[in-house]
Amino acid sequence: MTGAMMPCGVLPFMMDAAGRPSAMRGRFARLDDVASAILSRHDYPLAVAELSAEAMALAACLSTTMSFDGIFTLQASGSGPVKTLMADVTSEGAIRGFTHVDGDSDILDSPLGGPAPIMHLMGGGYLAFTVDQGEKGRYQGIVPIEDADLTGVSMRYFRDSEQIDTALLVAAEPDQNSGWRASALMLQRIPEEGGEGAVLPASKEEAEEWHTACTLMATCTRDELLDPALSQQDLLYRLFNQLNLSVLPLREIRDECRCSPEKVERMLEDLPREEKLELAEKDNTIVISCEFCKKAHHYVVE
Ligand SMILES: [Zn+2]
Repeated sequence: MTGAMMPCGVLPFMMDAAGRPSAMRGRFARLDDVASAILSRHDYPLAVAELSAEAMALAACLSTTMSFDGIFTLQASGSGPVKTLMADVTSEGAIRGFTHVDGDSDILDSPLGGPAPIMHLMGGGYLAFTVDQGEKGRYQGIVPIEDADLTGVSMRYFRDSEQIDTALLVAAEPDQNSGWRASALMLQRIPEEGGEGAVLPASKEEAEEWHTACTLMATCTRDELLDPALSQQDLLYRLFNQLNLSVLPLREIRDECRCSPEKVERMLEDLPREEKLELAEKDNTIVISCEFCKKAHHYVVE
């Protein structure tokens, strides 16, 4: 293999429970090349890059669970050395991410090999999931960062806010070629609706099958989750083969920013000319660098 790009994306899957079709649904995101490309444009300390890769994998996972046309955003704010953590994904599969680091700490270069210590890196704070459908509305869920890692924080969100039975594994690690591996595996039990939006509790059999699925998922090791030699499909069958698993086509996720010269122009056009000249460097040109993709956009003050 000569550096062939693996397609990155989210593999949706379904399982029946106690005879109820598709009672459990899952998502398995693997973003190795996409996370590597995005992180290569930044110069984050190791633990920060790991947290950022985890956030991208989780955002990719969650973006495909919602039936919407718009943008899914994962954003965390804290008062530790990492002030902002952000990853967003469009319904078309374009992902971007950035992390704002301000301050120093031994934690930033802390040894890897386990989940990124979000609690220490961000010093508490909040994690928000936002679905923005433009004119069709905006939904946001927020959870305090009170757990050691991103998996724990997200699990708290699903437990307290969504009240959907959820199992989640998120992991990232550097590879030998200065790139990254990033995966997120999520499993949810979709409650049965009893009419008028009411949600029925799980039957005893269904609760048992959900428990079995969670137990099987818990056998998945960090190495398996991140192993590039083990395909997403193969890992799902290895884990859930004894259940009624069906795997759907891969939803591709690509490294694509939404910045453009037009957006920069729109942002600057209403500023008074004197203010624009103050921002300008030589030749009356303002250079705006995108915080996501680091691309420099040039705007000439007329
Ligand atoms: Zn950009």
